[in-house]
Amino acid sequence: MLFTVNDSMTSLLESLIKAGVITKKRVYDAMLKVDRKDFTQNPYVDHSQCIGYNVVISAPHIHGHALEFLEPFISPGCRILDVGSGTGYLTVALSKMMNDSGLVVGIEHIKELCELGKQNIMKSHSNLLNEKKIILVHGDGRKGYEQYAPYKCIHCGAAAETQIPQELIDQLDYGGRMVIPCGTGNNQYIYCIDKQLDGKLTYSQKHSVFFVPLTSPEIQLMGNNN
Ligand code: SAH
Repeated sequence: MLFTVNDSMTSLLESLIKAGVITKKRVYDAMLKVDRKDFTQNPYVDHSQCIGYNVVISAPHIHGHALEFLEPFISPGCRILDVGSGTGYLTVALSKMMNDSGLVVGIEHIKELCELGKQNIMKSHSNLLNEKKIILVHGDGRKGYEQYAPYKCIHCGAAAETQIPQELIDQLDYGGRMVIPCGTGNNQYIYCIDKQLDGKLTYSQKHSVFFVPLTSPEIQLMGNNN
């Protein structure tokens, strides 16, 4: 397939390099291959944007940070779980980190968003769905997705407000990393949770963030008017 470089994507990524968000070539290359115009209406601004159902697509710098944290743990052909896959943007970017090898499972609890994610991915990356390099499932990401566990990497795009679901910890492979926002309000941070080869877990707190909660569809849609 012919791959054309989009100037707007290049400028956006250059600004993320200047800001110190992107430091790794593999992250830059992966993000350059996934044009945000397939996933959101105002694709080249560094802000989160509403996608309906009371949730947002994360800002490009948030996606960049997540990929940077996961990069050392992503080896070609490995299995990755993307909880709260939403628009599908990061699901594709994770696959691109492996040059389309391996498997990325995206799990999303709003059926319509799961469909939206599929439609978005079909625009320019249909091969990933057709060849089952990406599988999008409709379900509760708090339970992980047992069928393809363990995962070398788990990314969670919604915040664990009180505790990290045990199922996600159980489904993380030895030598793997989970990137997950934890906490509420002004007290919410990205955590990297590493599972050592002996099963011991280490937690490192990163930057402050504002993610929507990892919750049930009922709670998420409460008061929904978009
Ligand atoms: N990573 C995506 C979406 C981030 S918004 C992107 O950047 O486009 C968080 C997503 O998590 C939303 O799509 C929301 O519907 C989903 N979500 C929240 N709780 C969930 C749960 N328990 N299981 C699966 N998905 C969940």
